[in-house]
Amino acid sequence: MTVDTCKGVEHQLQAYLDRSLTPDEVGMIEVHLGECEYCRQRYHFEAQLRETVKTVCCGDPVPNDLVDKVRLQLRAQSG
Ligand SMILES: [Zn+2]
Repeated sequence: MTVDTCKGVEHQLQAYLDRSLTPDEVGMIEVHLGECEYCRQRYHFEAQLRETVKTVCCGDPVPNDLVDKVRLQLRAQSG
């Protein structure tokens, strides 16, 4: 697995979570997530972040600084 693939997956992770990728791209990412521990953790981290923000804000538009705060908090928790 090359670093380039990891970078590509990390770059597309937001779009993947938004379900805005093509089936080909989704397939590529899911294969990679199955093979790469690092990207799997990144994916779980971003998915958890979205869940947390969604719960806190009850579906209202989320200010960017709040997302950053939650991200820092989750990072601290996950070590
Ligand atoms: Zn990777």
